[in-house]
Amino acid sequence: MRTDSPRLTRSDPGFEKRLADLVFNQLPVDRRPDVVVRPRTEQDVVDTVRAARRDGHQVAVLSGGHSWIAAPVREGGVLIDMSAFDGVDVDAERRRLRVGPAARSSAIVPAVAAHGLAYSSGHCGTPGAGGYLLGGGIGVNSGHWKPACYSVRSVRVVTAEGELVVASESENRDLLWLARGAGPLFPGVVTEFELDLQDRPVDTRVSSWVFDHEHLAAVSAWVSRVSATLPSYVEVFTAAGGPGRHDHLPSEGYPDRIVTVLATAYVDTEAEARAALAPFADGPGVEPLACTDLAPVAYEDLSASFDAEYPDGHRYLADAFWTDLDAAGAMVPLADAFVRAPSGLSNFVALMPGNGKQVGLDPRAGAYSMDHRTLVMAYALWTDPAADEANARWIEEMSAILAPLSVGNFVSEADHERHPERLERSFSPESWRRLTELRSTWDPDGLFHLPGRPR
Ligand SMILES: Cc1cc2nc3c(=O)[nH]c(=O)nc-3n(C[C@H](O)[C@H](O)[C@H](O)COP(=O)(O)OP(=O)(O)OC[C@H]3O[C@@H](n4cnc5c(N)ncnc54)[C@H](O)[C@@H]3O)c2cc1C
Repeated sequence: MRTDSPRLTRSDPGFEKRLADLVFNQLPVDRRPDVVVRPRTEQDVVDTVRAARRDGHQVAVLSGGHSWIAAPVREGGVLIDMSAFDGVDVDAERRRLRVGPAARSSAIVPAVAAHGLAYSSGHCGTPGAGGYLLGGGIGVNSGHWKPACYSVRSVRVVTAEGELVVASESENRDLLWLARGAGPLFPGVVTEFELDLQDRPVDTRVSSWVFDHEHLAAVSAWVSRVSATLPSYVEVFTAAGGPGRHDHLPSEGYPDRIVTVLATAYVDTEAEARAALAPFADGPGVEPLACTDLAPVAYEDLSASFDAEYPDGHRYLADAFWTDLDAAGAMVPLADAFVRAPSGLSNFVALMPGNGKQVGLDPRAGAYSMDHRTLVMAYALWTDPAADEANARWIEEMSAILAPLSVGNFVSEADHERHPERLERSFSPESWRRLTELRSTWDPDGLFHLPGRPR
């Protein structure tokens, strides 16, 4: 395939290393594109898509490389590496942000915070804006601000025809609808997103409690009960994790498995935070091993603790389910399987974005349509290649427990590779119908690859 952009083909020295460097997950995949192309301008993207079309290659797109399943790495065809598109431009007056798809929250958040602004940035700072926003974007304060894709105002897209178009409320609205949540089904290459910004919460406060995992039932019941009384700007994670993850806890006499509750109030004063988190005061009836009370954490520092949980240089398997059960109903059935995790680094997490209520998504505005009670995500992480099979068996065991309890999946974190049916289950039936229709309109020849599905 001829293109002026830098490119590497399978037979080039450095191809394997380049591919590995682009992908966050170190768990190897047995798929290889024929060529990796790194465009630097929108015209390069246009030329690359046209050349791929002409030569009969399928196309996959990589921005931040943080798909858990290495979704952009397909067998054969062209991988468009968008890593050069990492610009961040804040228009403070209009409260708008323009970002390239390879920009990461870790770069975007300080830029918007410097203007007293914010958006629902990822809980981790490392994923690229491309996959994060296209997949919905469940980030900070998303129960209040809504998933990040709903703040997307416009996108610049190179279509399957190789045309550069803008999608906004006034032109190509269908494509904007797709950009708000179609995830890996998006039929184009996004070169830039424009987002609305929010006021940065002035005094974000975090309270946390750490318990022995044996109290999971009591703790998750407490979280479920309290959540129902919380305002939408309080976000509560309940996470079951392994040993060695909490440096601030005593190293001796400390259990192998713990449950952490992390409640964040996105507010402007300590008094507001105190009032918002007051319903936690009664406790679950068991003593925490450790706790913090209303610790101030700046918006721009929120991702640090999440990034530490999901470090570089590890092998990962992940899966994610929506359920209409509360946190207790979703977590307790996993308790026994969790203690059998081969890796002490593995964990599972429950988040009730609307604190038990619906967040309130408009299905006409975006493809992202999962508005359910609880999101449960299971993560296996390890480093030893000899443990690959054991970890794969474990995540399947966790998923097999969750699947019958679930009403669907989260498109950005579900394992579509091993379970392609999870793509459809990541949307409401109406949104899925519209999505597949629009995909055939915008990509009638199936130029863009799909995870888990060879052409
Ligand atoms: C450590 C970690 C933390 C995470 N935390 C969160 C979180 O807090 N909230 C959340 O919602 N998700 C989270 N995720 C999931 C993450 O948002 C998705 O995996 C997302 O797809 C990653 O985006 P990326 O651009 O880095 O991915 P990539 O692997 O580069 O791309 C993934 C897919 O997105 C599509 N895509 C990417 N860029 C483009 C583009 N420019 N044009 C068209 N299609 C494109 C392609 O289909 C591609 O296969 C996390 C993932 C990891 C690994």
